[in-house]
Parts: sequence; C-alpha cells; structure tokens
Amino acid sequence: MESPNNTYSLERDGFVLSKLEDLLHAAQSNSLWYMTFGLACCAVEMIHAAAARYDMERFSMIPRPSPRQSDLIIISGTLTNKMARALRKVYDQMAEPRYVISMGSCANGGGYYHYSYSVVRGCDRIVPVDVYVPGCPPTAEALLYGILQLQRKIRESGERPILLR
Ligand code: SF4
Repeated sequence: MESPNNTYSLERDGFVLSKLEDLLHAAQSNSLWYMTFGLACCAVEMIHAAAARYDMERFSMIPRPSPRQSDLIIISGTLTNKMARALRKVYDQMAEPRYVISMGSCANGGGYYHYSYSVVRGCDRIVPVDVYVPGCPPTAEALLYGILQLQRKIRESGERPILLR
C-alpha cells in the first residue's frame, strides 16, 4: 500500500522504498563528528553540552581533534581578527559536506564586543553559517536544540541558514 508520501509501509508490506539521497541525508544527520572551535566563555557551555549531564554523544555527536575528520565546526565565543585566518584555514581543511554552527552573540555578530577594533562582527563574514544559536552565553540546551535543527536541515537539505528564536 502506497503512503501519501510515496513510500511503502514496512509494517504492512514488509519492505520500505526510499530515495538513496534520503538515506544518505539520514546517515549524515545521525553521524555528525564535530570540531570544537572554542574562543571564549561560550566554549564552557559547549563543553557542558558534551559532558555527562547533557551527553551530546546520544545524538551521535562525537568530538574530533582534526578538521579532516569533522563534518561540523562549532564556533563558540569571540572571533578576533587575528583568529579569523585560522578559522578559515580549519574550515577549508574540512571535507564536504561540512556544516557550521555559530554559538553565542559574539560569534553571531560581535556581541558585547561589536564595536571593538579587534573583533569580527560575525563569523559568517569568514565562513558560511548553517545555524545561529543566540545568547550570551547560550545554554547547553540551546546548543542541543541548534544541533537538532541542523540535523533536521540536513535531512531536509537545501535550506540555509536557520536563526533560532
Ligand atoms: Fe562570552 Fe557572551 Fe561572547 Fe559568549 S556571547 S563569548 S558568553 S561575551
């Protein structure tokens, strides 16, 4: 029996039909290995999200120390002009498809240091951002919500960027 979205029911017919592209996106969204890019206070909440209380690994999020092994980079904190070149270099070393989460007011737009001569007013001036997580700092829950939104975006693919409210 064909369902409204043109897939077949496993329960009724014993098999499922899907597009290869959908399977690929499902695999990608459920195996996000992330490169941390902690730059200031927001990084503490990112670490909090990865620690025992929030246990980010239950969403198949595994931290990697190398950009070549990472699908995602979480930019958490204040991006200075001096650090911008390093961020771009790390991003360029990641294989496609690659994703970026901007965490916190500073990474999103300069935040508290918006008028500082030494701070980049938003990391999206250096790399393309997929999800912006607001707050100063955002809570660990907010980051996890951003990750869930990124997973949804990868499954649905194509839409960018997402601004959480
Ligand atoms: Fe620190 Fe707030 Fe900037 Fe995060 S957004 S790095 S908490 S000043």
